[in-house]
Amino acid sequence: MPNLDIQKIRKDFPILNQQVYNKPLVYFDNGATTQKPLCVINEEIKIYSHENSNIHRGVHYLSEQLTQRYEDARKVVQKFIKASYDHEVIFTSGTTESINTIAFSFGEKYVNEGDEIIISTLEHHANIVPWQMLCERKKAILKVIPINEKGELLLDEYKKLISPKTKIVAVNQVSNALGTVNDVKTMIDIAHQTNIPVLIDGAQSVQHGKIDVQELDCDFYVFSGHKVYGPNGIGVLYGKEKWLNEMPPFMTGGEMIKKVTFGKTTFNELPFKFEAGTPNYVSAIGLATAIYYIQQLGLENIASYEKELLDYGTKKLQSIDGLKVIGTSENKVSVISFILENIHHFDAGMVIDKMGIAVRTGHHCAEPLMDRLNVEGTIRASFSFYNTKEEIDKLYEAILTVKQMFG
Ligand code: PMP
Repeated sequence: MPNLDIQKIRKDFPILNQQVYNKPLVYFDNGATTQKPLCVINEEIKIYSHENSNIHRGVHYLSEQLTQRYEDARKVVQKFIKASYDHEVIFTSGTTESINTIAFSFGEKYVNEGDEIIISTLEHHANIVPWQMLCERKKAILKVIPINEKGELLLDEYKKLISPKTKIVAVNQVSNALGTVNDVKTMIDIAHQTNIPVLIDGAQSVQHGKIDVQELDCDFYVFSGHKVYGPNGIGVLYGKEKWLNEMPPFMTGGEMIKKVTFGKTTFNELPFKFEAGTPNYVSAIGLATAIYYIQQLGLENIASYEKELLDYGTKKLQSIDGLKVIGTSENKVSVISFILENIHHFDAGMVIDKMGIAVRTGHHCAEPLMDRLNVEGTIRASFSFYNTKEEIDKLYEAILTVKQMFG
């Protein structure tokens, strides 16, 4: 039995308690975005109702109070990912902005013609395109770690890709399309043998278990608030102090400056150097509330219950004739990507939707991975701690209906 009271937890998520197409909603699209608990929703209402004011600028009561709460939220994130200092936590709009910031800023300073950047076949477009663009700007070379048939990175091949020209390694900790958990600790250790910094895309890992950036020793770690039960439009860029101090700012404008004259501008200290303009302070505080929420549930409890769902779901779905799970690593988070023999994933997705079940179909913003796996796309069910085995049974029944209709 799980250590979590799932029925009680579900009451915290009002959106789950509704019908679509006259069927109870089953939400299995948690990889795309997670739903928000009432405490997060209410926090935002409270701020806009009673506390709103632009931060860092005013000397008046509301501004001072909210500035404090924003900076407290930064400390919550710092403790959540176990960063050494709160100024190593930069608030961004999400993983995409975090990666673009690093690719631009780090790239501007350290990447030159002929240099190499390593990413992997498992990456989301957000961790491919910014590096590709950087390579175009700087005439650098993008190298890609290959995978095996199970959807796991080949670490021996990774080692061979590292060269004296390698400037940075950027990989995800968990693949959004397959759910594979990558051994990023080993990958970081390998890169650090020759002092190469490593960026970890944690968009699909922070919500599934404990993260310790100091233990990992990663140089950068990024994630999105909306995938960790927090609000949209907020994300995190963690960077080791020494890198963030050395890197030039990406966006410029208000807040990130120390002194501006028409002749010259000097930049503010960390973390403000990387937070140009009015930050999304409401969502930053909402993110801190979401972090409190999942910490109260316990990240170990979440991980073990989600593993239970993954094992149950995998066994159940694999029993369906003609269903093939794509991504079969033993080390996965609660994501099941699959295809159905002779049935297009869009057709399947449409029928499953009509049963009230939200799954994702398509390439999952990982087109090069789909090409490598020789599939056009997959159907992806991604489970959260608020999902149940009964809901998985409904997905199973829906797939049988799809087979009857198209098989
Ligand atoms: N990386 C990974 C692994 C992701 O799953 C996602 C979102 N699907 C992103 C990056 C981009 O995140 P966002 O859209 O929140 O910026």
